Amino acid sequence: MIQVYGDILDEETRCQHYHSEIDIIALKCFACQKYYPCFFCHDRYEDHAFLAYPMSRSEDRVVLCGHCRTELTISQYLGCEDACPICNHPFNPGCKKHRSIYFQTNK
Ligand SMILES: [Zn+2]
Ligand SMILES: [Zn+2]
Ligand SMILES: [Zn+2]
Repeated sequence: MIQVYGDILDEETRCQHYHSEIDIIALKCFACQKYYPCFFCHDRYEDHAFLAYPMSRSEDRVVLCGHCRTELTISQYLGCEDACPICNHPFNPGCKKHRSIYFQTNK
């Protein structure tokens, strides 16, 4: 069982900040290697700011689908981020707006 930290409301990793039907992913911080449902949760419990994962590590598993509990690689997640490629549960498209928080792009 993969441990997800923070204020988890249910087994699909919804938290007090993001808890709609489609808020089911958790993301891994590059610094502490822990899964959190969002960066607000992370920054509340850790003594460092959420460190985005380098996109160059595209085969690292850093996104957890709370529905099927599959760990997705960066390339899997960015390749079809509107729904889980394994179980097809929809993901929140609003997460795209926060992509730069969770992934280091080479701009
Ligand atoms: Zn961290
Ligand atoms: Zn949260
Ligand atoms: Zn899934």
